[in-house]
Amino acid sequence: MNIIHLKCQNCSADLDIDMEHFIAFCPYCGQKLLFDVDQIGNILLEKEKTNHEKERTKQQELKYEHDLKIKNMNRDVLKGINKWYWKSIRYSIYFVLGMLAFLFILLLLDKLFHISG
Ligand SMILES: [Zn+2]
Repeated sequence: MNIIHLKCQNCSADLDIDMEHFIAFCPYCGQKLLFDVDQIGNILLEKEKTNHEKERTKQQELKYEHDLKIKNMNRDVLKGINKWYWKSIRYSIYFVLGMLAFLFILLLLDKLFHISG
């Protein structure tokens, strides 16, 4: 809670505040101020509204951050799956090429040395 220091307009001393009777009075020169109760009510109401709005904005920001986090998470998962998919295709191609090279070498050795008779 914020505390506002009220000063006497007459002598600049700190005013004592009697919230029960909505009166501020100066202990030095005796100056009295009566608070406008309606205005205080309006100020408090306005403040309450502002706090509600702040709270709502905060919640919206939190929700936005949360949604963004989930979106990023989903994107990362998709990226991971995509990466894995292309990696497995690449290794499959390497495997097939390796097998072909192996068969080719076998064929070549057979032609050179007539292994199969
Ligand atoms: Zn005073």
